[in-house]
Amino acid sequence: MYLRKISVPSHLRFASSFKELSDNIDEVLCQNSYKRFLIVSGRGSVRRVAKKLFDSLSKRRKGELLVLEANSMATVKDLADFAKKYKPELIIGTGGGKILDVAKLGASKSKIPFFSVPTQVSHDGISSPVAIIKDGNKTLSLGAAIPKGVFVPLYLVKKASARSTSSGVGDLLSNITAVRDWQLAAEKGMEEYDDYAAIVAHTAANSIYTSYNNYASSKIDFTEDFIIRLVEGLILSGVAMEISGNSRPCSGSEHKISHAIDALFNSPALHGEQVALGILISLYLQGGDYEKMRKFFSLVGLPVHPKEIGLTKTQLVEAVCYAPQTRPGRYTILEKKNIKKRQAVEIVNNLWD
Ligand SMILES: [Zn+2]
Repeated sequence: MYLRKISVPSHLRFASSFKELSDNIDEVLCQNSYKRFLIVSGRGSVRRVAKKLFDSLSKRRKGELLVLEANSMATVKDLADFAKKYKPELIIGTGGGKILDVAKLGASKSKIPFFSVPTQVSHDGISSPVAIIKDGNKTLSLGAAIPKGVFVPLYLVKKASARSTSSGVGDLLSNITAVRDWQLAAEKGMEEYDDYAAIVAHTAANSIYTSYNNYASSKIDFTEDFIIRLVEGLILSGVAMEISGNSRPCSGSEHKISHAIDALFNSPALHGEQVALGILISLYLQGGDYEKMRKFFSLVGLPVHPKEIGLTKTQLVEAVCYAPQTRPGRYTILEKKNIKKRQAVEIVNNLWD
């Protein structure tokens, strides 16, 4: 019998204070006998968090703090070069996403275990085997080792903007349309479908969508319970990608529409906000309950109309038409329906007055 080997994060801890965060990481460093660590951070307020963590962890072992300017292939190389000289046993990435992805890929290239310390939870990259890196005006989606540990400073995530948390919800809910697209590709004989990865991805999305949607009629508060559930869902998305060996269970036509918005209109909103509009279009085309989803979006602060992310309906039509080109090998409902301008206009007009 063929058995797959996959990696999943060995440690997941939520911390309600800096002390708890530092103690959690310290304990795991001791358990693993790590004596040499490297913390990677971006500039701005996260740098202060990284410095505090560095000061605390370096009391009992050797450490370095590396501040990187931006998300780019150049900074991934800077990190790999630094790691080659300093030889840390562990790389700890802190931040909201962009530098976290640089740290994740740099650690993976250097074959060094990676801990993720996300200060906001705006997308599933907090614990996925994928890093999104800018290379000139291209955005690359590159395979990386899944983080060995995820340490979530809840006290910081709760203080982050509600928009960033809403965006994380949008990215998580995309699993619903992405899994359906994956089934379509499999039915067409274009891809292998992995039931287990699909179940993990789908269940992760439903842990938020079903549980909260059935009871809520007014705006949903981002309580600690909600954020924990969201983080767990995003981590499971990473596990689903690890099982399938690609981003298929979490990225379908709705992500193609968001990639098209990035390419044509220079990323006017957060990733999960753009993906949310994509979800409504994908659900509409897939015959799903887009009205129920739209209602849920309004309860969690996600956009329900293109104008909320600064796009006109005409611009969204352009993005829908361009979407298939953003990832040509990935068959989705857009390719199945062979969407051309006339249909795109019809879809957008039917979804929005
Ligand atoms: Zn995404």
